[in-house]
Amino acid sequence: MSIFEVYFKYMLASIITIGDEILIGQTVDTNSAWLGEKLYQIGFTVRQIHSISDKSEEIIRAIDEAIELVDLVIITGGLGPTNDDLTKKTLVSYFKSELTLDIEVLVRLENYFKGRKIEIKEAHKLQAMLPNNAQKLINNYGTASGMWFEKNNKVIISLPGVPYEVKGIMEDSGLAKIRENFKLPFLYKRTVLTWGKGESFIAEIIKDWEEETTDLGIGVAYLPSPGIVKIRVSGSGDNDEIRAQVDRRVEGLYQLISEYVFGEDNYKLEVSVGEELKRKGYTVASAESCTGGYIASLLTSIPGSSEYYKGSIIAYSNEIKINLLGVSKIDLEKDGAVSESVVKQMAVNIRKIMGSNYGIATSGIAGPDGGSEEKPVGTIWIAVASENGVRATLLRLGKQRSTNIKVSSIMCLGKLLKEIQV
Ligand code: ATP
Ligand code: MG
Repeated sequence: MSIFEVYFKYMLASIITIGDEILIGQTVDTNSAWLGEKLYQIGFTVRQIHSISDKSEEIIRAIDEAIELVDLVIITGGLGPTNDDLTKKTLVSYFKSELTLDIEVLVRLENYFKGRKIEIKEAHKLQAMLPNNAQKLINNYGTASGMWFEKNNKVIISLPGVPYEVKGIMEDSGLAKIRENFKLPFLYKRTVLTWGKGESFIAEIIKDWEEETTDLGIGVAYLPSPGIVKIRVSGSGDNDEIRAQVDRRVEGLYQLISEYVFGEDNYKLEVSVGEELKRKGYTVASAESCTGGYIASLLTSIPGSSEYYKGSIIAYSNEIKINLLGVSKIDLEKDGAVSESVVKQMAVNIRKIMGSNYGIATSGIAGPDGGSEEKPVGTIWIAVASENGVRATLLRLGKQRSTNIKVSSIMCLGKLLKEIQV
């Protein structure tokens, strides 16, 4: 099957986000990312994402252009009641509509403001005026309704700009309505999550598997982030057949890289670690130097982590390593803070101090400055201690501070996971 046949089997979509604040970098366009993922998940190919200024002529130009290319256009932003919100006015003229009062929306708005003990203003009432040739998508989270227009067999949806309103409207009714109105291919995907190895390392191991998989018309994509590589395996076509085929390929993938896998889809390494600790009734504590609490932050971002996470000492200075963590002053002076002996003592001692089953520790040079010839920036030691002893690993990472912090935290959690699984 040629790439074009695969490509054109999909319905095409375009996302347009409106707002000067996006163009000048004040607001990060998260709406596109969220919508893109959702559209992909229901079987659309997102052909383009555009961010444009809040000007009528720009809005019209962007819609004209998109409608030529795709089946579905989703627009966000500019539906508020203020003068800088031009989207509705522009769409009304573009689709040759007239604004009419929607009683249902008006009642909803009146109740909304009554509930918040705020007097409803004329500007708010304008939010109940909707184009007579649009279907409305109810907004339970704000004052601007979503609008669904149709033109030449194409659908144009206009949504407010506020991200939680976009999500709310789409999840409550928008996505379901899109599914009803478009004949979408069945799309089945599984994303296998790995830790601790780079994209090219994984790619080398699975080279033959990847070739066989893509030859079958099943897509393979690598999605790397610091310390983690996600491998997405996806296919579209007949439901049961494609499901079985993707499942078989994923099974083959596991056989090659299972030692690096910690879960699938939206799973997180810190969740895997937590689940595993909970299952065994074990606890962990951390002593963090170069990661400065990032490991603690990852672990505590999971609800219920108090069940297995005891706490952390952020031992950034030597003084704290010695006085609070009980690291030997002699070793520290002899080997330096970034050393196997020190990181091991940090892990062993935090385990004792906190009375946990496991102790984990990091000590390294996160950068961008501070390296030496012997210990260049990116030299990071991590350690995991348990009742069976302590194991340390040397990482040689790059020069980018935030990446180094993230990667070493992931590596440390991954090593812990392995240790618990033994
Ligand atoms: P409002 O009724 O609040 O005026 P609106 O539909 O007019 O809503 P905007 O004024 O364009 O929407 O944006 C409202 C808020 O949502 C702003 O804080 C803006 O920064 C944010 N926002 C707008 N577009 C996006 C986007 N694409 N991604 C993330 N945030 C966005
Ligand atoms: Mg606005």
